[in-house]
Amino acid sequence: MQGFGSTIFAEMTALANEHGALNLGQGFPDTDGPQEILDAAKAAIDGGRNQYPPGAGVPELLDAIAAHQKRFYGIGLDPRSEVLVTVGATEAIAATILALCETGDEVVTFEPYYDSYAASIALAGAVRRTSVLRFPDFAVDEESLRAAFSPRTRLVLLNTPHNPTGKVFTRAELELICALAREHDAWVVTDEVYEHLVFDGLSHLPVASLPGMRERTLTISSAGKTFSTTGWKVGWVSGPAQAVAAVRTVKQFLTYVASGPFQPAVALGLGLGDEVYAGLSRSLQGKRDVLVEALQGIGLDVSVPSGTYFVVADVAPLGATDALAFCRELPARVGVAGVPVSVFHDDVDAARTLVRFAFCKQDAVLREAAARLSTLRA
Ligand code: PMP
Ligand code: GLN
Repeated sequence: MQGFGSTIFAEMTALANEHGALNLGQGFPDTDGPQEILDAAKAAIDGGRNQYPPGAGVPELLDAIAAHQKRFYGIGLDPRSEVLVTVGATEAIAATILALCETGDEVVTFEPYYDSYAASIALAGAVRRTSVLRFPDFAVDEESLRAAFSPRTRLVLLNTPHNPTGKVFTRAELELICALAREHDAWVVTDEVYEHLVFDGLSHLPVASLPGMRERTLTISSAGKTFSTTGWKVGWVSGPAQAVAAVRTVKQFLTYVASGPFQPAVALGLGLGDEVYAGLSRSLQGKRDVLVEALQGIGLDVSVPSGTYFVVADVAPLGATDALAFCRELPARVGVAGVPVSVFHDDVDAARTLVRFAFCKQDAVLREAAARLSTLRA
């Protein structure tokens, strides 16, 4: 693991705390999610659910995950054999890659990529092969994607809606990825943690719902974003029983189980009415608009995200020539933290002056952050 150091999120949050800066770096909301879910966790603790839960997850959560996939996407799952609860999506990603990859196997993914992808691929002794999504539209480049596949491709690791770009992959892009996966007899591992954070009337399209994909797709999600409970670390993976069994085998020896009292609370959350889900995306869309307008207002080019917590801006007009150095100085200089997109790239030149700002914060915080950034204009 030499070379991985500490994650950019830890580094930027530590800097933000040290300087009392507005933290638009790490993606976590600064307001709580639905009260019913918080109450359910307290009730679970008071009700004595404080010992090891079953290895696969508590039955009511397995049932709720299966019901959620049916309700929103029409995907039918056997909750006992095709669903596994994990310690956040992070463990699901690691356990899935460890379960599917042998040393030297290749994993195709897009860059910028979420940082744990590179680390999990490395832990498995596998090799990452990437295709670059380029600012400002982050469209899939078919030629480089094709070139990333080889006879050693074991799986494609996909993320839609996509962190850090805020991109929601189009149906045509997903169909291309799926066609290439089928051609190379590869698995698709799809990280859909932002599935409910989609804007502008778009809807989330799960890979497992595409024709012919159910049997070769493992879908990962988590409660962190959907219920504004990023510290609870309740995630899950679903897909064909044999593959889920392999992931469960790995998971047993990473953590065995976790989050006992939070699991029934998340089960309750997954069953809440449509208005809770719609309210979340409406609220975040409004915050997206506040931050996008504010950043554009100070003269920055931004890529308007269709989903997630994040907006990517080109900070060259603020005097930046290297996003990483810029972000390391920013909390001390103006009291704002962001995350350099270059750290999610192999091809760092693709993102030299790009910074990701999180908008899952109170509107006043977003406006104040933009005002502080504007003081850097020449
Ligand atoms: N995948 C992506 C794309 C993420 O942005 C995150 C972080 N929120 C995770 C996985 C990890 O999710 P969790 O906190 O549930 O482990
Ligand atoms: N997923 C969050 C982000 O992208 C942070 C997760 C973490 O701190 N590891 O900001």
